Amino acid sequence: MPRKKKDGRFINYYIDRHIFERLERYADDKGQQMTAALERILEEHLDRYEADLAAMQNYCPNCHVLVQGTRCPVCDKKWLEPPKSEDYCFLVEKDIVWAGVLEDCLRQNGIPYLTQNVMGAGLTAKMGSMMESVKFFVRYAYYDKAKLLDEELFNAGAIAENEEDAP
Ligand SMILES: [Zn+2]
Repeated sequence: MPRKKKDGRFINYYIDRHIFERLERYADDKGQQMTAALERILEEHLDRYEADLAAMQNYCPNCHVLVQGTRCPVCDKKWLEPPKSEDYCFLVEKDIVWAGVLEDCLRQNGIPYLTQNVMGAGLTAKMGSMMESVKFFVRYAYYDKAKLLDEELFNAGAIAENEEDAP
């Protein structure tokens, strides 16, 4: 039976002579064909590169969210980049009752923020200005501090418990 034809591409790049000689030596040492050696070297490097990217925190400028990895899970935008300090990032969504508490806290701590009111589905037309909850966005430079403040405000019990174990 004939072997299945490989799905491949020819490459033809003019590369540095010394790198080429290293590649030849490598293939020779490993007892590999040049093609196999190249494929393995590239694959190993690209695997590592992609794993690093996937582990990084990136920013989707469409959705204003911080994302683990390079593709936005909300809008599917690809090749996301790390956040810049001035990027507004989604912090948290708060019930309208608690939104005021968080706003006071952010203001007292000098953290600039933006809010977006979120309507309950289907209620918008009937209820007019009645809001259900508020989304908070802060600049990336303030994100960690704001996150901490939010946790202290709203999960004080959980934090206190953890602190009991501390010396
Ligand atoms: Zn997005």
